[in-house]
Amino acid sequence: MKNIVIFGAPGAGKGTQSDKMIEKYGFGHISTGDVLRNEIKNGTELGKTAKGYIDNGQLIPDELMIDILASVYDSFGKEHKGVIFDGFPRTIPQAEALKKMLAERGHSVAAMVELFVPEDELMKRLLLRGQQSGRSDDNEETIKKRLNVYSNQTSPLIDWYKGEKIHHHVEGLGTVEEIFARIESVIDSL
Ligand code: ATP
Repeated sequence: MKNIVIFGAPGAGKGTQSDKMIEKYGFGHISTGDVLRNEIKNGTELGKTAKGYIDNGQLIPDELMIDILASVYDSFGKEHKGVIFDGFPRTIPQAEALKKMLAERGHSVAAMVELFVPEDELMKRLLLRGQQSGRSDDNEETIKKRLNVYSNQTSPLIDWYKGEKIHHHVEGLGTVEEIFARIESVIDSL
């Protein structure tokens, strides 16, 4: 069982590369952004709370995210090949909660794959995606806030995972296939 954290700034390509990993390795996939957008669509209490934060480029409070973590993970059942965590953890308390939740089940994170993309490229990609997908948080003002949140609150996780000795740096520039080949060599080495 190989649980993988796919990590990177907004627009780094986490979702695209997750799809490739699911296809090749049969992993389950937890995208907390998708979970939240679904809650918003269904008009739940969590969705109503989340919308304000998302549209403002801010993180949803840790306790709300940590609350839903175990039930989303357990929905994959006891026997699975591993789950990709996409968009989670985004803060050190979330990483600690993930480690604890997995340890309680005798599981762990096998690798944290950091997709590295320079900031000017991220901005370009997200603006283009905003025009195509119509996602309410892909406009210039919100993107800037999200990139700031990433560098202040989320990027400290790189050192945290280095401390866990499971951090892998992957260059996120190139074609989808080139980047995936780099990720494959990490996963195949586990
Ligand atoms: P990608 O480019 O891979 O789509 P992203 O950062 O642009 O990544 P999502 O991961 O879909 O987009 O997240 C969208 C928003 O949902 C975030 O800006 C944040 O408000 C909220 N969110 C998602 N995951 C978390 C989390 N783990 N903790 C707090 N807020 C979260």
